[in-house]
Amino acid sequence: MKTLTELKRGAPMNCKTVQTILSDTAYVRTAGSGEEVRCSAYLASLCEKIGLKPQTEAFPVPAYETELATLTVDNSPISCKGIWGAGSGSIAAPLAYLPGTDAPTKRICKGKIVLLDRGVGKELHQELVSCGAAGFITYNGNLNYTDQDVDQREMRFRTEKPLLPAVNINAKDAFSLLKKQGKTAEIHLKQKESTALSHNVIVDIEGETDETLLICAHYDSTSLSKGAFDNMSGCIGLLYLAEYFASRPHKRKIRLLFCGSEERGLLGSRHYCRMHKDELKKTVLNINLDMMGCAMGSFAAINCINEEMTDLLTSFLKKRRFAADLRYDIRSSDSNSFLACGVPAVSFARYSPAGMIPIHTRYDTAETVSPKRLLGDMKIVAAFAELFANAHPLPISLAISEKIQTSVEDYMKRQAPLINEI
Ligand SMILES: [Zn+2]
Repeated sequence: MKTLTELKRGAPMNCKTVQTILSDTAYVRTAGSGEEVRCSAYLASLCEKIGLKPQTEAFPVPAYETELATLTVDNSPISCKGIWGAGSGSIAAPLAYLPGTDAPTKRICKGKIVLLDRGVGKELHQELVSCGAAGFITYNGNLNYTDQDVDQREMRFRTEKPLLPAVNINAKDAFSLLKKQGKTAEIHLKQKESTALSHNVIVDIEGETDETLLICAHYDSTSLSKGAFDNMSGCIGLLYLAEYFASRPHKRKIRLLFCGSEERGLLGSRHYCRMHKDELKKTVLNINLDMMGCAMGSFAAINCINEEMTDLLTSFLKKRRFAADLRYDIRSSDSNSFLACGVPAVSFARYSPAGMIPIHTRYDTAETVSPKRLLGDMKIVAAFAELFANAHPLPISLAISEKIQTSVEDYMKRQAPLINEI
């Protein structure tokens, strides 16, 4: 680890600091792995250098060991990974491509191993079982990329009924086996399930009251990604805010939360909400940072509260002449855990143009993040956070609208239970 002299001296974060943190964390750090632990310790050490006292909280996450995962189509082996949590066993069956999931299309599933264009959640799995599918194949990646990477996918749900054997393959293999009109597929899958530990890092910057502004970002990555854009960029944003609020007086308490295991179903933020129920009652707002400062792309302020927040964000951004897309919706990120517990949330991102920086792939590297852009993004987020850290009373009602509540309830129904909820 390099010495962050800038942080040590308490000088504001600069482009060099951003670059150093991005290169120090240029490794895959999946939920529950040793690398995720290493990253949590690194982020905690940076907070200590600012003079803060981080607390690390461990929580269990499902872990899997794949003992055997093979796929052959017409006796030719295809590189695959067993989908975590899928059914173990051996199955040989005719192969069918399922381009849609409408009723007539699904009728072709009976007795087949089906190739799907999408991931499989609880509902679709149930439908595949009801239609008599024998197993399934999903794929990741892009036909035109040079890699042959196969992502580690997971069945993020529990059912009473046995799960179908399932594997994931690369998009190029999926395409070529369809072009060749593969006839018979064979899957052998054997996995062991256990638990591993993931961690949240919590940092408090006291204010004059115990009303709290909770600002979070996840630091874990998916299996193929070094997660610079998604989401070390957001973690650097939290460190920026740590410095910002550590050196300025503010009324409300600021709590910064570096979440583990977001990529496996918001497990870190959901665990936090479960363990900190009383503190959530005093939490007036959650600000979530997920994918900031990419070199190309537009800034998005995602209002997950109500129409009053749309008006506030519109005038706030206009006054500062900051170009941003305003969205009024939920987002698949840690903000949903807080919303589900009644804590209003605003999420920030800078989304790259379509296909430019494919997240959850080997192409999400430090080069995709612009330190200058990231610092510019954080300047506006800090001003927004400062407003809610100080304004007394709050400038608007933060009551969560019915539209947002319904969307969050629907989203959370599709998530797997936390380990200690099972
Ligand atoms: Zn993310």
